[in-house]
Amino acid sequence: MRHRAVTNVVIHETRSMIHLYGCGDSADIKGASAFHVTTRVLDINLPLIETRQKYGFREVTLFPGGKMSQWSDYLLSEVESYEVSADSMVLWYIGGAGFVVRTSRSTVYIDPYFGPSISPDWVRMIAVPIEPSAIRRVDLVVSTHEHEDHCDRMVVEHVGRSTQAMFMGPETSVTKAREWGFPSSRLVEMKPHMTKRVRDFAITALPALDSHAEKALTFMLEAGGITVFHSGDSAYFNGFREFGEKWRVDVALLNLGRNPPGDTYYLTPCDVVRSAMDLGARTVIPMHWDLWKRVCEDPRLVKVIADEWQAKIQVVVLRLGDKFEVQRFSKT
Ligand SMILES: [Zn+2]
Repeated sequence: MRHRAVTNVVIHETRSMIHLYGCGDSADIKGASAFHVTTRVLDINLPLIETRQKYGFREVTLFPGGKMSQWSDYLLSEVESYEVSADSMVLWYIGGAGFVVRTSRSTVYIDPYFGPSISPDWVRMIAVPIEPSAIRRVDLVVSTHEHEDHCDRMVVEHVGRSTQAMFMGPETSVTKAREWGFPSSRLVEMKPHMTKRVRDFAITALPALDSHAEKALTFMLEAGGITVFHSGDSAYFNGFREFGEKWRVDVALLNLGRNPPGDTYYLTPCDVVRSAMDLGARTVIPMHWDLWKRVCEDPRLVKVIADEWQAKIQVVVLRLGDKFEVQRFSKT
């Protein structure tokens, strides 16, 4: 077998087959007798489709074996080997809305996205820090809604096939996971105000306000006396205040972006501070601001607003791959 790399496309070549995967823009595949395209970006990578038309690929499958990570296994090995103490929770920021949340007993991925750019409007700005097909330590994957940057096919296929982890989300995410072959016995469909226990976590689905998604949820994750809120792509709404009255939120993971004219995809820096205040969060971590070129925002603006409003909230800016350790807050 020969391996050739052309831009980001890796080619595995056997005597009768060529396997392409990755997200590159050109590939020299002349001279092969049959083609087997195994790319996860098939529908959205025009050059590859053109190549397919030109050379007449016979078979098209999605294949999770491509090397997508640009960080080798540096981050994943840290995430999987880190010793989490019994009274803490550790959050790793994996870009976009993605986090790995670990306690000493379990590992939860929320909205991981390791895929490429989607279109000229949605260009990925950050490296892929983890090789999805290399993930071993995982007990649960949570998806807030069905959009690809919150419901990653490559992760779902790998986790469904190679681990015993569960997959949780609203009906639309669960339907996608089922279509992608995730075992039904490990799918957990959530509705607002439902709580499900997974190992030491109690996870409650809550309403979201997301006009772009078919069905979207926000999530409250509790383990060992520590509570983390994840907003998905929800816009600001008055429900945050209700959540704040019911839970004592230690960390709020809130989306942030600079909305293009005429559209509202993400919370603004003011929305983030207001939402964190409504939630009564001790700490807020802005997320999603780094992923797409069109809506990138500077997370330091959240700090500026929090200072200006004298909000008693710690603003923590995590960059790709950074981790944040939450200690159990003394209740006395
Ligand atoms: Zn998103």
